Amino acid sequence: MLVVNPATEQPIAELEQAGIGETDAAVARAKAAFPAWRALAPGDRGRLLRRLAMLVEEHGEELARIETRNVGKPISDSRGEVGMVADVFHFYAGAVDKHHGETIPVAGGVDMTFREPLGVVGLIVPWNFPLNISSWKLGPALACGNTVVLKPAELTPLSALRLAELALAAGIPEGVVNVVVGKGSVVGQRLVDHPDVAKIGFTGSTEVGRSVMRAAAATIKRVTLELGGKSANVIFADADLEAAAAAAPYAVFGNAGQDCCARSRILVERAAYDRLLDLLVDATRGIKVGDPEEDSTEMGPLISAEQREKVASFVDGDPVFRGDAPNGPGFWFPCTLVEASNDDRVAREEVFGPVAAVIPFAGEEEAIRLANDTPYGLSGSIWTENGARGLRVARAIDTGVLSINANTSVRVQTPFGGFKQSGFGRELGMHALEGYSDVKNLFIAT
Ligand code: NDP
Repeated sequence: MLVVNPATEQPIAELEQAGIGETDAAVARAKAAFPAWRALAPGDRGRLLRRLAMLVEEHGEELARIETRNVGKPISDSRGEVGMVADVFHFYAGAVDKHHGETIPVAGGVDMTFREPLGVVGLIVPWNFPLNISSWKLGPALACGNTVVLKPAELTPLSALRLAELALAAGIPEGVVNVVVGKGSVVGQRLVDHPDVAKIGFTGSTEVGRSVMRAAAATIKRVTLELGGKSANVIFADADLEAAAAAAPYAVFGNAGQDCCARSRILVERAAYDRLLDLLVDATRGIKVGDPEEDSTEMGPLISAEQREKVASFVDGDPVFRGDAPNGPGFWFPCTLVEASNDDRVAREEVFGPVAAVIPFAGEEEAIRLANDTPYGLSGSIWTENGARGLRVARAIDTGVLSINANTSVRVQTPFGGFKQSGFGRELGMHALEGYSDVKNLFIAT
């Protein structure tokens, strides 16, 4: 199987595809490694995760280059993401002995709870943030004492393979972290079906998430699903319009729009619509699209020709703005702004490319109604200088992650995950530890 650089369409690696036999072997290795890993003193598990964090820092530039060549994302983004990966392992190194049980007052004795690891967990990761999303799952899974089999997306396996080597170099015992490269329909499906896999941590499309959930029922596997999104960026007329317009394009065109958190519906209050649209076009025109290995590049190509075709199908007629993109080899697509209604396909489906729908609204009530008029509920932003309104609207929007006067979704310390068909379960922060452990209750008669 050839791994391709999406900016050049040239192969950068050739790997053998694993099948069901290799997947079963990886699960068996993880199962064999589990008793010793769970029994390790928490401080020692933490120390190993800390060492992994430090190795990620030491190899930061190498990992960032791998990610940029394999995903096509700008090198400055990859450097930031690798920095986050190190921070994630530092965080969970420190969290190992801070996620603990309770004692509960009962009659006739003492009652206490323990947090027990689940066993072997299967981690299924998409191609848009391969290293980052791997770490979001590995950190809490390992901290809780589970062993893992990680399946990166077929298109982007390289950084996960390097990370597994670094885990070994950090002293994490063999068998604790396994990476299996192969097709989702083969390796991923086998992990979901495997009776010795206790839980699946999945990030990807809502469609595959649905099938994972269905298949997991056969073995009553736990699942965490981080799925698609169609998030709203709600800009009120009383906002700092310059700041909102400067930030909005990056919230859609970052990672070339291949981001489940993309705020791809820009909802603008009618009173500020014309002015904001002008500002938005100016800001979008300023985005530097080109060679992802250049330090100053802000947007690279899409992941594949197939993805480019899918994205193109969302743009018909004359968009209000279409940027420049290189002609040559590479899966390029220009930054595109379209005026739309919330009922249009571009406002209903996840585009997963650099296409933003700009949609007018007429006041707070309509803004909330439109923001919620989607089957998804992952992230979103609200721009207003009225603090009470910001809070009011934030409470009324049904999504897992929101920001006021900012476009951030993801922080190492805070919970990340969806409402509605964006999935369930939380990644990052202390919340992620809930998804990788079970509560055991013990009563001792006195
Ligand atoms: P998928 O949901 O198909 O892939 C996500 C992961 O699941 C990959 O590792 C994939 O493996 C694996 N997978 C695929 N089929 C199965 C299966 N039957 N059982 C278990 N695992 C499986 O997303 P795509 O990468 O194909 O992207 C399609 C669309 O999904 C995008 O255009 C976008 O709209 C959305 N998407 C959303 C993401 C998000 O973060 N919310 C992330 C990625 C995509 P492999 O790729 O090797 O086949």
